[in-house]
Amino acid sequence: MNPELLLSRIRVVLCRPSHPGNIGAAARALKTMGLSNLYLVQPKQFPDPEADTRATGAVDVLYRAQVVASLPDALAGCVFAVALSARQRDLGPVIGQPRETVARLLAEAEQGEVALVFGNETVGLSNEEILHCQAAVTIPTNPEFSSLNLGSAVQVLCYECRMAAFAERPPTGGQGVTPFASPAATHDEVEGFLGHLESVVTDTGFYNPEQPGRLMPKLRRLFSRARLEKDEINILRGVLASTQVKTGHGRKG
Ligand code: SAH
Repeated sequence: MNPELLLSRIRVVLCRPSHPGNIGAAARALKTMGLSNLYLVQPKQFPDPEADTRATGAVDVLYRAQVVASLPDALAGCVFAVALSARQRDLGPVIGQPRETVARLLAEAEQGEVALVFGNETVGLSNEEILHCQAAVTIPTNPEFSSLNLGSAVQVLCYECRMAAFAERPPTGGQGVTPFASPAATHDEVEGFLGHLESVVTDTGFYNPEQPGRLMPKLRRLFSRARLEKDEINILRGVLASTQVKTGHGRKG
């Protein structure tokens, strides 16, 4: 299935978020990764200017967020839900790794809508909430300090969703375009330049063809590593020609 379509089938559900700033951060996290469906279960404070501020350019996702009264309401119509928990709960699904679980989430998204379910900043998800989910994930962290900020946890999972939806190679802006690039120089253009260089360094006395040493092979290796472009060859030859004008040596051959 088309990656964008798959991502559009993922709901991000925040259960009882306390801080409006985290709701805004979550909206931004969704949008940066191409997700758009935010569900809020009993948010303490929403809408709120702090949420707008933290969402910055993602207020569209924020304003379209569905505010619902319970987790089952947020999961209505979903075929699969993953709980995000910093620790294993007594009941609830066995905790899995984000990457594997997201792969499963996307496979399920082929069937219908799916959800990532996040808990409250202070108390996390309740056991009851976890039991509404078919899988659970802990983001691997420093064991001595394992709890991420809610917005950060949402960002990590949304990133994994994007990577998985695009088979690990999402397009990036301006991909493959190098500013100011010109076409690659051909073999004969590079040879022409090296010949020109050799004649200039011979004329200046820097290089003695009677005792060649390693100078030319080293310069050849240097320019070979540089993967010269046509424009660059023209510039370098212009530089060489300008030294020839100064020293009164015309280009030989
Ligand atoms: N003190 C809470 C953590 C709250 S952080 C607890 O111990 O559960 C708010 C939410 O962010 C969590 O409910 C969870 O959904 C998500 N989260 C934070 N750190 C996480 C981690 N390491 N792995 C998975 N989810 C995490």
